[in-house]
Amino acid sequence: MGSLRSLVFGGVAERLVPVLHTPVEDIIYEVLDQKGLPSRSEVRDLKNKLERLESSVGEMTEALEGIRGQMTEINKAALEAKEAAPTRSAAATKICKVDGCESKVRAKGYCGKHYMMWKRGTL
Ligand SMILES: [Zn+2]
Repeated sequence: MGSLRSLVFGGVAERLVPVLHTPVEDIIYEVLDQKGLPSRSEVRDLKNKLERLESSVGEMTEALEGIRGQMTEINKAALEAKEAAPTRSAAATKICKVDGCESKVRAKGYCGKHYMMWKRGTL
């Protein structure tokens, strides 16, 4: 009895599914049209746009990853350059130790003029 029932209903369901499939879809889209909701082609357009957007986002993400990699390299290079030249930049900004003199240091903490005076013992 059970097998007969499943044979009948199973067969009916099998035959009904493809028949129902399209009309159900049509009804859904008809309802959507009546409610002023997107039409089938609008939904398809939207889907296509989303797919294009998705691939664009993918490309942009790749580009950003590349830029990020370059930034990391630049930062590394800048840090190395900074570490390589600390004494030079410090020496370049040092000022003569004589009060009121704003000249750059040449030697012994004096500018050129005051270094010569210090050397001659006239400072
Ligand atoms: Zn000086």
